[in-house]
Amino acid sequence: MDIEIRGIHKSFEGTPALLPTDLKLRHGRFTTLLGPSGCGKTTLLRMIAGLEQPDGGEIYAEDQCVYSIHKKIDVPAHKRNFGMVFQDFALWPHMTVYENVAFGLKAAKLKANLRQQVTEALAMVRLEGMEDRYPHQLSGGQQQRVAFARAVAIRPALVLFDEPLSALDAVLREEMRIEMMSLVKDMGLTALYVTHDQVEAMSMSDEIVVMRKGEVLQRGAPERIYEAPSHPFVASFIGKSNWLTVDQAMVRPEHVTWKRTSEEDECYQATVLSVSYVGERYEIRLQMDGLDPWTAYLDKRKSVGERVNLYVSPQSICRMGEE
Ligand code: ADP
Ligand code: MG
Repeated sequence: MDIEIRGIHKSFEGTPALLPTDLKLRHGRFTTLLGPSGCGKTTLLRMIAGLEQPDGGEIYAEDQCVYSIHKKIDVPAHKRNFGMVFQDFALWPHMTVYENVAFGLKAAKLKANLRQQVTEALAMVRLEGMEDRYPHQLSGGQQQRVAFARAVAIRPALVLFDEPLSALDAVLREEMRIEMMSLVKDMGLTALYVTHDQVEAMSMSDEIVVMRKGEVLQRGAPERIYEAPSHPFVASFIGKSNWLTVDQAMVRPEHVTWKRTSEEDECYQATVLSVSYVGERYEIRLQMDGLDPWTAYLDKRKSVGERVNLYVSPQSICRMGEE
């Protein structure tokens, strides 16, 4: 089932949190809203979920309208058949694991074979045998698995994630990222995921929607967003960019070479500012003559203060505003 958002917008006390926004979430696809804190991601997600009232616009789940001001339609959250996973897990502290997962099914009026549905959902997230525990008896990762099980047990048309991994430490976060991604894919779920973490967005998504100040700046596959950003903000927010003298033109660090490879290569002079060894390579910060500092990669060490020449092929330069 495709989900379509048309012209949804919202202000708080006269200040726009989200400008009119269109978004199409294709069936079985993983879409991510990526942007800095305060850009309107949660507001958009909560309006789709039915937890926040939009100022205008429409939301469709396939042919069914679930929200429209003009048509006076506002299907309540628990009847939209959307699952939701929050940053703080939002488990009921006085309920056991079993009761937490069963709660979502009961609210959605899916009580037939309740025990079997809960058991299956918990097996999926590898929490068999934990039915009688309370949230405080679980680790952060286990709590988030319960929240995930609760959200997907109802077999939702759409599952909404609001920064679900940001309360976890770095190692667990990466583990859970991979686990959640494969569960979503295996179950064929349509997902909308919110994060301010570009690595999460790049590694999980079929499509990324980059936002800033209540507005969508660019949308597309992760590779496209990285290789052909259409806006300087997108280029700076995702990955590292080395800016050139030409307005709105940059080159990614992996395209900066230390030897001329072609006659057409442009040459840039620089001084080594710092050298960071990161295992598989050295990351070198460079003071550029007449430009802001750059980052480049190398397989051997350089000395700080060393003068170097760098080369960039014209084809690897990304110019913005030429979409
Ligand atoms: P994000 O999730 O991207 O960090 P939010 O959607 O939470 O951003 O917030 C977008 C903007 O709307 C922010 O400026 C925030 O302060 C404001 N905002 C969000 N919720 C409310 C609210 N309930 N009342 C007033 N302002 C709000
Ligand atoms: Mg938020």
